[in-house]
Amino acid sequence: MNNFRIGFGYDVHQLHEGLDFWLGGIKLEHEKGALGHSDADVLIHVICDALLGAANMRDIGYHFSDKDPKYKGIDSKILLREVMVLIRDAGYEVGNIDTTVCLQLPKLNPHIPAIKACLSEVMGVEEGAISVKATTTEKLGFVGREEGVSAYCVALIYKK
Ligand SMILES: [Zn+2]
Repeated sequence: MNNFRIGFGYDVHQLHEGLDFWLGGIKLEHEKGALGHSDADVLIHVICDALLGAANMRDIGYHFSDKDPKYKGIDSKILLREVMVLIRDAGYEVGNIDTTVCLQLPKLNPHIPAIKACLSEVMGVEEGAISVKATTTEKLGFVGREEGVSAYCVALIYKK
């Protein structure tokens, strides 16, 4: 039983006009994009946090400080690759991850296959172990008003 551990991640980014919108490692065509110190990829950030949490290795901000100019504008795929190295160095492999992105617009469903393929390549984990789901919030709250995007992830890892 001690071979299995679960982790959870949650993150939010503001959306503003004229910014690039990176989500799950791909760039969405949209009039708004996410604001952040890195490329503000909310989906990759929650995956990193869930994996680090499962391994009891703090969080993404602890390893990659948003005060560090080294990470300004950085491609979050690089951070996810580094997280995978951290958890594999500690002897863990990913069982599966399950994610939900909360976003009013644009519709994510058409992009989910490309996102899963991208995450699979970056993580070195088969696509069958990577679930990406999308929901609106029925026009309620900051997501519904298109002021921001949020995401959740749970991850199961196991000791090899
Ligand atoms: Zn973030």
